[in-house]
Amino acid sequence: MNTNTIKTVLGNISSDELGLTLPHEHIACYFEYFYGMLGDEYLDKQALYEKAVKYLTEIKLTYGLSTIVDCTPVNIGRDLDLIKRVSEVSGVHIVASSGFYHTEEAMLFDIPEEQIVKNLLADIGKNNVGAIKFAVESEEMTKLSKKLLSALCTVQQETALPLIIHTNAKNKNGRKILQTVLEAEVSPSAVTIGHVSDTDDMDYVTEILKHGCFVGFDRIYKSSRPEYYAQKARDIYTLCERGFADRILLSHDGLVFNGFRADAPLREDNPYAYIFDRLLPALSDIGLTEQEIHSMMTENPKNMLLCK
Ligand SMILES: [Zn+2]
Repeated sequence: MNTNTIKTVLGNISSDELGLTLPHEHIACYFEYFYGMLGDEYLDKQALYEKAVKYLTEIKLTYGLSTIVDCTPVNIGRDLDLIKRVSEVSGVHIVASSGFYHTEEAMLFDIPEEQIVKNLLADIGKNNVGAIKFAVESEEMTKLSKKLLSALCTVQQETALPLIIHTNAKNKNGRKILQTVLEAEVSPSAVTIGHVSDTDDMDYVTEILKHGCFVGFDRIYKSSRPEYYAQKARDIYTLCERGFADRILLSHDGLVFNGFRADAPLREDNPYAYIFDRLLPALSDIGLTEQEIHSMMTENPKNMLLCK
């Protein structure tokens, strides 16, 4: 495969076509067994599809959004048919993910690691998956987490796809996870330590960045407090001053449908808008140039997807 090729749900594209990219979003995360139990009462898939198309189209037309990475792994409702239809109709490129959300699923204990690797590689090949996702919330990794992460490191090395890891910035587990991944000889430029925007401790984030990986300011959420966006802008500015402007990824971790919530309504506001409406103006206010901001939204996600 050409080294500038990006795998999207609708086929391969050149990395030059990525354009303005949100590198950590979701259309929906949900549980198949809840959908199996409750059907439309839990999730109206037609309404989800319509809203996802509407929201992405709005951001495309208003701000020039060209690509999103859908970081939904296989065990929390990754629905490739839906993602494909949304991409086709909205005209936004979508890179899909393989891998696992944190889980203690009994079945996974029994499957040998080599088999998990084989199954993930089959998924990636068959479904033209362009990213690998993993999630660890707890401070210490469980036995199963370690096995899955080890499998995903092998998959990363076999596929040269980026490994995007949901970490917990509050308990700072990103340090240990990164150490584990680097010990497995995954290149730092293939790794994103996600969700560091959940802390304002930029010394912690700097410690992570010093290894050469990417970090995700990828939970820029809806807030009515301008102070929230000003704080995130200060944090990003601090990291830029420390020389890491090219390793910062901006995204929302947005969801049109959040099946983790018991009431689980579809989003009434556009989950992909807050960076454009609130964060980017705050970054301009604090002194980042248009060029620096543009580069953060185009070059950084491109390099992350290319593991550069
Ligand atoms: Zn996410």
